Amino acid sequence: MNDLIMPQILLVDDKKANLIALEALLERCGARLFTATSGNEALALMLEHTFALVLLDVQMPDMDGYEVAELMRQNLDTRDIPIIFVTAINKEKTHVFKGYESGAVDYLYKPIEPSILLSKISIFIKMWEKNARLRETVAELEAANQTILTQQEELRQLAIHDHLTGMYQRRWFDEMIEKAVAFSIRNNVPLTLAMLDIDHFKSINDNYGHDVGDTVLVQVAQVLAESIRTSDAVFRYGGEEFAILLPNTDRLSATDVCERIRQNIVERPFRYDGGQLSISLSGGIAELLELEKPTPKNLLICADGRLYRAKLSGRNRICDNGC
Ligand code: GH3
Ligand code: MG
Ligand code: MG
Repeated sequence: MNDLIMPQILLVDDKKANLIALEALLERCGARLFTATSGNEALALMLEHTFALVLLDVQMPDMDGYEVAELMRQNLDTRDIPIIFVTAINKEKTHVFKGYESGAVDYLYKPIEPSILLSKISIFIKMWEKNARLRETVAELEAANQTILTQQEELRQLAIHDHLTGMYQRRWFDEMIEKAVAFSIRNNVPLTLAMLDIDHFKSINDNYGHDVGDTVLVQVAQVLAESIRTSDAVFRYGGEEFAILLPNTDRLSATDVCERIRQNIVERPFRYDGGQLSISLSGGIAELLELEKPTPKNLLICADGRLYRAKLSGRNRICDNGC
């Protein structure tokens, strides 16, 4: 049986004969018994084992029972272990040990009356069993709570991010562009929007299958995520269309970023189970403060229009003005 199933009791007395007598009395009390013949030995055992109760002889040479209890009180691991002091001093003269949580201390007077000893022990064992059940319930509740927190976080991530590419979902775009535009205007700092769309993506699906199309989308998203700053945000805007919001970035710097992305995409092999293929993408870029009316809607219209022109003028290019 382990510590949690069977309570353990520590018997402390400087006289071996007393310990043997106590062990005989408590043989069938339902607890595993440990013995110590000094305060030091008792404290060492308490650090190794979890005790439901300590039966502590008061009169001992070197360190008496109250000194042992005082040291137990000072240690977080032992301060809550209940104690029964065993003393030869008669009731009236008993020094009442202070500073210990009430209810956790009791007294037995020598010569020990077996029936009193057994009834006190059984009360402490019942108390220990109740506490053990309580601890178990608390642990179960904590575990359940942790599971709920983890699930909540997973749901939150699922709600925010696109399940295939891990980029932000389209539904957050309106809210985020709104905030970014307001910030840009208020602080007179640039904000650029890039719309990137994979060229002839439909033919990838048609020629290689939808799964390969998915693999390509995941790899493109990886390239995008690796190419931007942490303050930028990538959205999966449509099936194979991505939007990048670049705060504090002017049109030319954003064009540099997107040109690098375009080159990286066109040069890298896209691997899939069974082979590799090449793709390209086109992009349209617009800067907010260059617009006549700087609104989220106009920023999107401008970037979209330039993406359309990039497609019309041959694809595999980034358009950031009249093109
Ligand atoms: P263009 O160069 O003009 O952009 O041509 P396109 O073929 O890339 O564009 P089109 O809009 O005609 O086709 C987009 C295709 O993307 C059609 C759709 O089935 C596919 N698609 C959309 N979402 C997904 C997806 O999650 N996975 C896969 N594999 N395909 C998708
Ligand atoms: Mg496309
Ligand atoms: Mg498209």
